Amino acid sequence: MNNEQVPSGLRWQAIDTVLLDMDGTLLDLHFDSHLWKDCLPRRYAERHNIPFNAAEAHITPRIKAREGTLKWYCLDHWTQEFGIDISGLEHEHRERITVRPQAREFLCWLKTHGKRTVLATNAHRRSLDLKLRQTGIGVYFDEIVSAHDFGAPKEEVEFWRRLQARCDFQPARSLLVDDNPRVLRAARNFGVAFVLGVHLPDSRAPARPATEFIHVEAFSQIMTTL
Ligand SMILES: [Mg+2]
Repeated sequence: MNNEQVPSGLRWQAIDTVLLDMDGTLLDLHFDSHLWKDCLPRRYAERHNIPFNAAEAHITPRIKAREGTLKWYCLDHWTQEFGIDISGLEHEHRERITVRPQAREFLCWLKTHGKRTVLATNAHRRSLDLKLRQTGIGVYFDEIVSAHDFGAPKEEVEFWRRLQARCDFQPARSLLVDDNPRVLRAARNFGVAFVLGVHLPDSRAPARPATEFIHVEAFSQIMTTL
């Protein structure tokens, strides 16, 4: 999709609630990629006095095995597993937490147009708090929800049930923007009418390959006249 195109089927008149993912959607995923793929193995290697590659070989499969589960997103789990204070590591590198292009403008635009805006993230509360402090984007939301509050990640239908019980939104009148296709699939199965992926969640990594979902390249594409 080029910058001039509006995703077909997106009708703002039919949308009351906008559910937004944080990492890779509103914030540059580069921070998380850097932290987990570089800072963590580096710290582990220093701690155990082993080469970086050996640390990486220890860490990567363990993380991969938890993909799609709540533990994958749980700082306490990984702190215990690797014996490294992950929250402390995130704090050390917090300068790299940045907002994606046009994300702030999009959040303002949603407010101006009276859309109820919900931040729905799999991020652990401590990570979420750090990122909100660092970027100030918390002010734009009517609700902020972490999957850890519900005990289920966004990849599972249970998350969406719990979110609906908490926020009382109408899936048929909602839009979700999220860089994770598994999450988009779960939301769509739950009945969320409009779902959009993200073309370039990490500014320093290649773009995401197309899936069955439309990927937004720039928020300007969806800030259209109502
Ligand atoms: Mg994400």
